[in-house]
Amino acid sequence: MARTPLIAGNWKMNLNHLEAIALVQKIAFSLPEKYYAKVDVAVLPPFTAIRAVQNVIEGDKLLLKYGAQDLSPHESGAYTGDISGSMLAKLGCQFVVVGHSERREYHQESDELLNKKVKQALKHGITPILCIGEKLDVREAGGHVEHCSEQLIAGLKGLKAEQVTNVVIAYEPVWAIGTGKTATPADAQEVCGSIRKKLDEKYGTEVANSVRILYGGSMKSSNVSDLVAQPDVDGGLVGGASLDGEEFTKLAAMA
Ligand code: PEP
Repeated sequence: MARTPLIAGNWKMNLNHLEAIALVQKIAFSLPEKYYAKVDVAVLPPFTAIRAVQNVIEGDKLLLKYGAQDLSPHESGAYTGDISGSMLAKLGCQFVVVGHSERREYHQESDELLNKKVKQALKHGITPILCIGEKLDVREAGGHVEHCSEQLIAGLKGLKAEQVTNVVIAYEPVWAIGTGKTATPADAQEVCGSIRKKLDEKYGTEVANSVRILYGGSMKSSNVSDLVAQPDVDGGLVGGASLDGEEFTKLAAMA
C-alpha cells in the first residue's frame, strides 16, 4: 500500500504569533501547489500561534496542514493550563504530537498518560503523532528495538485496529534530537522496520502497511533523501530545521 510521506515541522517553544505568520507565509509561498500531491507537509506551532497559522493556511486553500505539540488527557474542566482535544479540533488541527521526548523528560509524561492523550486526539478526529525513541545508554546496550516496541505497545494500548490506522508513529532517538547527530539510514530503518513488524503482529498487515512511520532527529535537507529512501521511513518530524523557511521547504521538497 502506498503511504503518502509526511514532513511535520515541530516549532517547539519558538515564535510568537507574528513571527509564526511570517514563517508559515514563507513556507506556503515557497512550496508549489503540485507538490502537495506527493507529500503532506505540516507545521506544529506553539498553542498561541495556532489561530494565526490557521488563518494563513485557510487563505492558501489548506494545502499545508497544521497541528499542535501536545494536548490534555482530559476532556474539559478544572485543569488549569491544559488545552483539550476539542479545542484543537475547533481550531482545525489535523495533527497533535504526543509523547515528544522533551515532554517525557521535562514533564515526566508516562506511557500510561500518553495513551490517554492518544485516545483524546482520536476521539476528536485529530491524528496523534506518537513519539517513541531510546536514550543513548539504551542504544549502547543494544536495547533500542525492544525499548521502542514497549513504548509503542503502551502508547497504543486499548485501541482497535481501525483506530491504529489513524495514528502516525515518530521514531525519534533521543540522542539525535537537537544534537546534530543523525541516525544513519540503516539505524532508522532498523527501528522503523521493527515498529511496522510489531504493528503487523498486533493489528494485521493491512493496518501495519497503512501506518506512517516517521524518523526524527537532526533531519535536514542534506540527509532527508537517504532517510526517506528506507522502505519503512515515511517522512520526518523536524525540529531545528523547521524554523528556517528556506531549509524546511527545501527539505520537504526532497522528501
Ligand atoms: C524534534 O524536536 O522532534 C526533533 C527531531 O528535533 P531536531 O530536528 O532539532 O533534532
